[in-house]
Amino acid sequence: MSVTRPRGTNDFLPEDTVKWQQIEKLLRDLCAEYGFQEIRTPIFEDTELFVRGVGGTTDIVQKEMYTFTDQGDRSLTLRPENTASAARAYLENKMFGLAQPVKLYYMGPMFRYERPQAGRFRQFHQFGIEVFGSSSPLADAEIIAFAWEFYNRLGLKGLSLQINSVGCPACRPNHKEALKDFCRDNLNKFCATCQDRFERNPLRMLDCKSPVCQELLNNSPEIIDHLCPDCTQHFSKVQELLDAAGIPYQINPRLVRGLDYYTKTAFEISLKEIGAQSAVCGGGRYDGLISDLGGQPTPSVGFALGMERIFAALKSQGIDHFCTQNTDAYIAVLDQNEKTLTTAFKLALALRQAGLACEQDLLARSLKAQFKQADRLNAAYTVIVGGEELSEGKAQVRNLANSSQELVPLENICNYLKESGDK
Ligand code: ATP
Ligand code: MG
Repeated sequence: MSVTRPRGTNDFLPEDTVKWQQIEKLLRDLCAEYGFQEIRTPIFEDTELFVRGVGGTTDIVQKEMYTFTDQGDRSLTLRPENTASAARAYLENKMFGLAQPVKLYYMGPMFRYERPQAGRFRQFHQFGIEVFGSSSPLADAEIIAFAWEFYNRLGLKGLSLQINSVGCPACRPNHKEALKDFCRDNLNKFCATCQDRFERNPLRMLDCKSPVCQELLNNSPEIIDHLCPDCTQHFSKVQELLDAAGIPYQINPRLVRGLDYYTKTAFEISLKEIGAQSAVCGGGRYDGLISDLGGQPTPSVGFALGMERIFAALKSQGIDHFCTQNTDAYIAVLDQNEKTLTTAFKLALALRQAGLACEQDLLARSLKAQFKQADRLNAAYTVIVGGEELSEGKAQVRNLANSSQELVPLENICNYLKESGDK
């Protein structure tokens, strides 16, 4: 039996990875413009980090973690997200001692034991940014503007940005109670998970995907009506800043994030056309996380976006402005003599050293087959090494675009190609 990749994972082949690289470059460029620096944390962490940092009542911790015991009897978990790890690293490396805020970004694979379906995988990739140490609504607006700009630069259309405030420990209990009062009489009609959430984390009932629960929650009390003055002011400032940036948004009073540490701003960017899993980016403020992990209270805000869903969106909108890899020169040989092969080999190395993308035949193919390969690679030039020309220290250089050909001394080929490329 042949071995296949594990369920819920993907192989990304070169025609895809070339696009990934360009999207990652766009993200890195944006990070440079917005002042975010990269952090790389371990792929696995102590299980305890996610239980505390993501929250014991979340789907992630309750059902989705890849947890294992290592040979030293430690419970470890493949990271299901990166915010908790970034916060741990901020504390562990005493980044609170640096000039604040600390603005970090990450990208890489995350792991969740989910039911695989379109847009939902067990190994998927996120890019995310975090601002540690600022309570200003400017920070919230800045990261939303970052995400919005990213989708704009990609050329994606039809995105919708939804925002809400989930309050803070001062005002959220009032809303929780109002929500519980509203649900109490109908509690037995809610799904089993929501009945459990009712006790443990009633706000998460708002996040339930069941249409029955959604229906029951119609006209439920809105958190906006229970916000304290500080949260109200913060929320209206974020809206003013988004207005100033010309970023359209809707207020969605039902929007709650799946993670326990969120406070104040919550937001999600979605694109209906990519199917049921339409969220392409989710984020918000998490003023409680660092102190939950044992640090000083540190107001923070961040988001994570799903790379696979960006690809699905680009595909569904027919966006394909990515460049493929170019071959500047293909070195063909007229014969398989040792001198010819060594000359071709050295020429290829010299061209590469000069920054040209260059390939030579590695299969002892006929000249005709080598020309065909040069065509397949879409090479700009073929250099033909061997025969009488080689004994004169020269080679034919053929321009594949117009089929013109010139005899060029070997030592001049590099300059010749570079100068022709500049024209
Ligand atoms: P969802 O409601 O889709 O489960 P979530 O609340 O679990 O989303 P976050 O933890 O906020 O998602 O992750 C941020 C982004 O990462 C999502 O908006 C989505 O684009 C992407 N994402 C999350 N889980 C997966 C997955 N299993 N496969 C692919 N992408 C994912
Ligand atoms: Mg999820």
